[in-house]
Amino acid sequence: MKTPLAQFNMSELTDIVVGMGEPKYRAKQLMRHIVAFDGFDEYTDIPKSLIQKLKADYVSRAVTEKTRVTAGDGAIRYLFETTDGDLIESVFLPHDYGNCVCVSCQVGCGMGCVFCASGHYGLKRNLSAGEILSQVLYIARDKKNDGGINKIVMMGSGEPLANYDNTLKFIRLVNSADGPNIGMRSVSVSTCGLPDNIKRLAEDGITCTLSLSLHAATDEKRKQIMRIADKYSVHELIGAMREYFDKTGRRVVLEYILIGGFNDTRADVTALRDLLKGLCCHVNLIPLNKTDHCDLTPPGKKRAYEFCEQLKAVGVSASVRRSMGSDVAGACGQLKNRTVEQKNIDNL
Ligand code: SAH
Repeated sequence: MKTPLAQFNMSELTDIVVGMGEPKYRAKQLMRHIVAFDGFDEYTDIPKSLIQKLKADYVSRAVTEKTRVTAGDGAIRYLFETTDGDLIESVFLPHDYGNCVCVSCQVGCGMGCVFCASGHYGLKRNLSAGEILSQVLYIARDKKNDGGINKIVMMGSGEPLANYDNTLKFIRLVNSADGPNIGMRSVSVSTCGLPDNIKRLAEDGITCTLSLSLHAATDEKRKQIMRIADKYSVHELIGAMREYFDKTGRRVVLEYILIGGFNDTRADVTALRDLLKGLCCHVNLIPLNKTDHCDLTPPGKKRAYEFCEQLKAVGVSASVRRSMGSDVAGACGQLKNRTVEQKNIDNL
């Protein structure tokens, strides 16, 4: 598989062009084309001889669009094909405060959370930093006339901290002044909770918004819905989040899917309050989105808002997150490895 040019930062691009006997300034020209998501045929200021050499080892575009579905709220779910034929999904989310892209970081997911469609077929492979970035670049080009992209959330398929090196590189590339230049504060990483890599992010100088998918305040409950809870306790995770806050000064986010009759009781409010005591955080409540292979149900809208008020009353900052894209299966937990299903359709 050829490497996408979007995989490289300015210094790596400089080494590549110099290695091909070209002047350094060619790297800047290449970077402009990469950020614009140009195809090689649009590299009009680059000599044909250099393009030929680049084509031997690299691709200008790591993803191509297969289909898209637009939701009533303006969210768009894109289905992309990678150069080796895998299918991945990304979602465009237009907000009043700017446009956001939700990227996938793996083909499938190995975490096996019972409520999430992304893990249903397991993990196929990690995406490279260039493949993750290409989802952003493609959509930014597509939405150039609608204000481009100002915000990124790593909340698509996959577990970012289980693909640590590519996640780290992606964040650096997307944040780079030579590249898309999206501020650290406008990048969110969501994790099911790998404490060592949470700490590593802070040590590596990342100061993005970090969201932990907590979903239950006790180990006993968490184990019923998340396989990763067998490995790490909620206290260990909250300890890692505390360390992230101490090192970065960034308030952390706890995501909490509301599942009717399971984690939305008064006892859950109290358990959350006790667990989060002293942590600078905000709780995002997400009424469960329905998926095919799971029969859990969300609580009623009224209960979701009551739960939120009850949390606030005991001093926990909380809000109910507006869900977008759910009518096109583009909301949280609804993205999946459509490779299997799409291939079945293709073969009909
Ligand atoms: N692996 C990462 C990121 C992908 S999921 C993580 O676990 O955080 C992004 C967010 O959507 C997570 O908070 C995840 O728990 C949530 N999510 C998954 N399935 C969902 C569903 N059916 N309804 C609502 N949110 C869901």
